[in-house]
Amino acid sequence: MVRNIQLRTTLLEEPIKGILTKKAAKYLGIPVSEITAVKVDRKSIDARKATIYFNYKVSVYIKEPAPESSNYTFDYKDVSNAKEIHIIGFGPAGMYAALRCIELGYKPIVLERGKNVQDRRRDLKAINQEHIVNEDSNYCFGEGGAGTYSDGKLYTRSLKRGDVRRIFENLVYHGATEQILIDAHPHIGTNKLPKLVQNIRENIIKYGGEVHFDTKVVDFDIQNNTLKAIILENGDEMAVNSVILATGHSARDIYYLLHKKEIALQAKSFAMGVRIEHPQHIIDSIQYHCSGERNELLPAAAYSLVEQVKGRGVYSFCMCPGGFIVPAATAPGEVVVNGMSPSKRNNLYANSGIVVEINIDEDIPKYNKFGVLKGLEYQKDLEKLAFTAGGRSQVAPAQRLTDFVDGKLSTSLNDTSYQPGLKSAPLHSLLPKLIGSRLRGGFKAFGDKMNGYYTSEANIIGVESRTSSPVNIPRTEKLEHPEIKGLFPCGEGGGYAGGIISAAMDGERCAEAAVTGI
Ligand code: FAD
Repeated sequence: MVRNIQLRTTLLEEPIKGILTKKAAKYLGIPVSEITAVKVDRKSIDARKATIYFNYKVSVYIKEPAPESSNYTFDYKDVSNAKEIHIIGFGPAGMYAALRCIELGYKPIVLERGKNVQDRRRDLKAINQEHIVNEDSNYCFGEGGAGTYSDGKLYTRSLKRGDVRRIFENLVYHGATEQILIDAHPHIGTNKLPKLVQNIRENIIKYGGEVHFDTKVVDFDIQNNTLKAIILENGDEMAVNSVILATGHSARDIYYLLHKKEIALQAKSFAMGVRIEHPQHIIDSIQYHCSGERNELLPAAAYSLVEQVKGRGVYSFCMCPGGFIVPAATAPGEVVVNGMSPSKRNNLYANSGIVVEINIDEDIPKYNKFGVLKGLEYQKDLEKLAFTAGGRSQVAPAQRLTDFVDGKLSTSLNDTSYQPGLKSAPLHSLLPKLIGSRLRGGFKAFGDKMNGYYTSEANIIGVESRTSSPVNIPRTEKLEHPEIKGLFPCGEGGGYAGGIISAAMDGERCAEAAVTGI
């Protein structure tokens, strides 16, 4: 017999060996000896009150063995001689499109402008230490896409839970810790992601797929509204059946290309703002109600904040406990910040994007002249502004949180995890009012919600601009572009995902759509 029950432990009980079995036996009124296994299905932390609990959803196996934990099998076939599907971009969307093609018996040919995970590291070092931005290999471009050197938070708001579980199990299949199947807020960590991404690539190649790095797609040959070939930067042309376009939201050249070719695009609302960085111990002490170090059983504390200010949402985005702020620019002349963390989340800082919703129809009328690309041009202008304010390198403009709200230039800044360095700048007057005034309102409200959050010990750093795509590439119910047969816009760049898991799920969906009819 199997019983599904909920249990909880305190910080004192948690380390006791066999505590869940003992608690389950007591809860069910049976002897411990009758329990063959207690399988944890979900684990979360409840720190809302002074006593912190670990909440568990468990399956208790009574007088019978526990089954294998996986619900999914991945039936990869040899596709060396199968029909081809071309996939542009090897981020989460492209990777999971390729894996799904193999399961369905089609040969994925992946074209990725960036380098493999190992070679990519050199370019990350160059941007951090020498302020050199390689336009094809950076924190957004290269093997694994923007998801590789990221936090690897696997949280998604997607309601398709079955699909989410399938992706989680596939990540475990390719080497992720099984803990991600259990944790309420699973994450992998930037130190573990490159190996996982490499395993996925090796598996694709093992089953007959192809993955080409340093291979940038620069044009499409379209005849009679059908995509016939893709043209590479080196001039090569590849004939295609179906193309999954999974180039992410930082591939602005792809948006420009589609626009130039008069292929339909739509402007889309998005969000922009700054990244905030606190010492991690401040966030721990607020969330765990402690004055000194957090208990060693507790992970670096996270937060999620949202507030309506003057009719627009102001919210925390991609919060990275125990993490680093990184330079996520994809072209020279811009400063873009983002966050990542290692699996142990043991760095001294907590950072998060704090962004303001930009309503594309109402908020940036001066950019209407750019038509469907107006959001993209607005993003670009703010990134250029940050570049100039930082001193025209990857040094980012920054201000103490309280100075920003009080409208004062900071005479000194707090220490930071952002390797290229910070320069004090009057972000309160530099940021457009649309964003700056709402951020000020948001920060004050966040200080009321989390006592201690609003502090001069936090820096805000500009700009957090790549939260989601400012452009949508339309597609029909069959996931094909309404005007171009054979083109399947996919993932975050198409406007169909926001994060690693939703991009991966969309990759699978696009593969299923792309193989029909060829
Ligand atoms: P991308 O990951 O952007 O991949 C697109 C790929 O296409 C890139 O590899 C690019 O090189 C390639 N490409 C672009 N143009 C071309 C071309 N012309 N020819 C060939 N190839 C091309 N999300 C989370 O869910 N959790 C997190 O913790 C998290 N942390 C992040 C941290 C950082 C620093 C960054 C930058 C992002 C983070 N994200 C996180 C966001 C997440 O990485 C993205 O949502 C996700 O990677 C989008 O997947 P995608 O496959 O649609 O696009």
